Amino acid sequence: MGRTSRAWLLRTCGCFVLLAGCAWAEPADWIWSGRYVITMDAGRRVIENGAVAIRGDSIVAAGSKSEIDRRYQPRQRLDRPDALIAPGLINTHTHAPMVLLRGIADDLRLQEWLERYIFPAEARNITPEFVRWGTRLACLEMLLSGTTTFTDMYYFEDVIAETAKECGIRGVLGETIIGFPSPDAKTPADALRLTEKFMQRFRSDPLITMAPAPHAIFTNSDETLKQARALADRYSAPLLIHLSETKRENDETLAKRGKTPTAALDALGIFSGPTLAAHAVWLDDADLNILRERRVGVAHCPSSNMKLGSGAAPVAKMLTLGIAVGLGTDGPAGSNNDLNLFEEMDLASKLQKLVTSDPQALPARQALELATIGGARALGLDKQTGSLEPAKRADLITVRLDRPNAVPLYDVYSQMVYALKGSDVQDVMVNGRLVVRDAQPLTIDQKQVLAKGREFGRKVAESLKAR
Ligand SMILES: [Zn+2]
Repeated sequence: MGRTSRAWLLRTCGCFVLLAGCAWAEPADWIWSGRYVITMDAGRRVIENGAVAIRGDSIVAAGSKSEIDRRYQPRQRLDRPDALIAPGLINTHTHAPMVLLRGIADDLRLQEWLERYIFPAEARNITPEFVRWGTRLACLEMLLSGTTTFTDMYYFEDVIAETAKECGIRGVLGETIIGFPSPDAKTPADALRLTEKFMQRFRSDPLITMAPAPHAIFTNSDETLKQARALADRYSAPLLIHLSETKRENDETLAKRGKTPTAALDALGIFSGPTLAAHAVWLDDADLNILRERRVGVAHCPSSNMKLGSGAAPVAKMLTLGIAVGLGTDGPAGSNNDLNLFEEMDLASKLQKLVTSDPQALPARQALELATIGGARALGLDKQTGSLEPAKRADLITVRLDRPNAVPLYDVYSQMVYALKGSDVQDVMVNGRLVVRDAQPLTIDQKQVLAKGREFGRKVAESLKAR
């Protein structure tokens, strides 16, 4: 074969290989690669030198980097050889705008804290603008520490929804329904009407699930509770409620109704549809059975329960029974005071070990399950999020492995739960949209939000002086 024809053959083969490569490679919007991919799929696969392919708002594949690179032709890529990739974290209970009251008063009994500080501060300051800037600050903190879904219970929840969409975070947002005048509703009937309006407005939103959130059994009439359930059912939404947070709530409900809060709510039919119960600390075996039978999800809030001296929820027992449990930060005003799910994973695990005197209770992998797929199950969102697998929404994070607290690495679950911090989060994607890159927010003006946060802080402090 002459030199020219050999060159021609090489060129032709080269083109053929290239064409074949292109023909086989499917288009994707992104490939993310990392030293490990923690999938949290049914097999709990951890892929060393792994990658995730993303198209539109969804994950199309998770596998080894070489396989994903062979199968997909991405428009953009994010290669993090010194980081791990994990599902975005899910906060199943908070009151986001209360970041603006962060640390207003600490180390007090709940009643004094509420009556001397929180209620007056809220009465004098809660406006839609307070809620908007508070939510922006909360979203900034949550996204930068790897939270991609949050569950909220507050007022002006429509403003929270608008802000969550603007920041690009997923939200299950519960408008508070409570038996006394609140910042956005004079009566529970008004609150129910408002909730329905919000549910209609955000009905088919890709990021937002609106929900009624009757505050608790002891702050609402039976009739209001039943109406909240009916409203949730009409829109196929979950119902969010605080449940058995304190011993006092249990004692008073027992004295008044002859039933525990769980049994009383069940008797009213409140658990007849999807429900997320926050705290669930003071539960006996009969209560746990009710939650299991009614498939009620639990938002476990270890920081809050410890800080307010509420008690320790029987999480290990719940998990043995198959109850869906997620993690919540609660707060952030005085019951936490931050929105960092890495801390909640770590504390959830250690708290169960402490109260059961068993170092094997709630091991690291299970703690990460609570913050990801467990939280998604508790919220009824496990078909959409909580793990990295095909057809789920692209909610994922990278976490740096090149910091002192990440070296050496023997077990990724242990590292995630006991050693890594929210501040190690490097990149965040929600619903296929990159919202944090290299620890910088892409959807929120950080400088402006911090300045506004300080400004609101000064106003709140002034308003309390004017008593
Ligand atoms: Zn709460």
